[in-house]
Amino acid sequence: MSQTHPVKAYIGIGSNLADPVQQVTDVLPSLDKINQTRLLQHSVYYKSEAISDIPQEDYINAVACLETTLQPFDLLLELQAIEHAFYRQRDNELKWAPRTMDLDIILYGQHHQNDSHLTIPHPQMMNRLFVLQPLKDIAGSIYIPTLGSLDYLIEVAPPLRIKKLDN
Ligand code: AMP
Repeated sequence: MSQTHPVKAYIGIGSNLADPVQQVTDVLPSLDKINQTRLLQHSVYYKSEAISDIPQEDYINAVACLETTLQPFDLLLELQAIEHAFYRQRDNELKWAPRTMDLDIILYGQHHQNDSHLTIPHPQMMNRLFVLQPLKDIAGSIYIPTLGSLDYLIEVAPPLRIKKLDN
């Protein structure tokens, strides 16, 4: 299903396995190839400590801005297919297991929804400086539906070790 007007969707990208900088670099063209979608922009990369109950490597994170006429759920299916293509290992026992590729819909225009498949804005974005900071880099001081200003969310986000990489 599609809609007439293109919408800007922001996608959170994360990887902490198998050369994560390369993984993030490689996924960008895949995002651009999604049906009815093109990659408009992406942030620089950040290195962040894993939020995890098991010891694991730091993550490489970035945020991409897509222009799409896909509906949110169809976009999610496309992102999951890409995750799969990057050999993501899903382990239901380990919620925060290391992963080669994690793609989340952070924002979809001004749209908000909360159902069993999809929550937009992403339900954890306010707790994740590794999403908020790169989002600010490419989107500026925007308003996040249901949550408030991005600047405020950055101000009150829980502390996290995060470093901007010069790529
Ligand atoms: P994760 O393992 O953290 O990537 O979570 C994947 C699951 O979260 C998927 O089965 C989705 O249905 C669900 N989900 C809910 N909201 C979102 C969102 N905004 N972006 C991506 N996945 C989401």
